[in-house]
Amino acid sequence: MYCKKCGNKIEIQDKYCSKCGNKVENINTTNSSNTLSIILGIVAIFTIFIPIISIPLSISSIILGRKYNKENQENINNIPVLLGIISLILSIIYILVLILIILTIYKNTPKMEEYIDNKWNNIIEKNPETNNDNGQKF
Ligand SMILES: [Zn+2]
Repeated sequence: MYCKKCGNKIEIQDKYCSKCGNKVENINTTNSSNTLSIILGIVAIFTIFIPIISIPLSISSIILGRKYNKENQENINNIPVLLGIISLILSIIYILVLILIILTIYKNTPKMEEYIDNKWNNIIEKNPETNNDNGQKF
């Protein structure tokens, strides 16, 4: 973005031109999409414990951030894209860790199959008819 009065290059966060002091006009349409993508990215990080919500949020943040960057090529602001990517990676890691925890718990569960077998045997012993119907003998 450049100053309309003197042509000096202005940073996106600047309200006044550093060279001539001319007030910088805000590009509200692109600013709102940038703000929205930053908010989405932050929300995505906070909802990291709910990866199902976090993933679409972070993807939206990345898309909005990229769209914003295309509209303002002179002032590339990578924060929304970065936030989106971080939250996306975190949510993927979270899901992987969750799967790993579930698998570890499942594997360490004291012989679930054995437990079920014992229960099943008890049922069969108590109801001999069930044994005949199924034709199974343990
Ligand atoms: Zn100026």
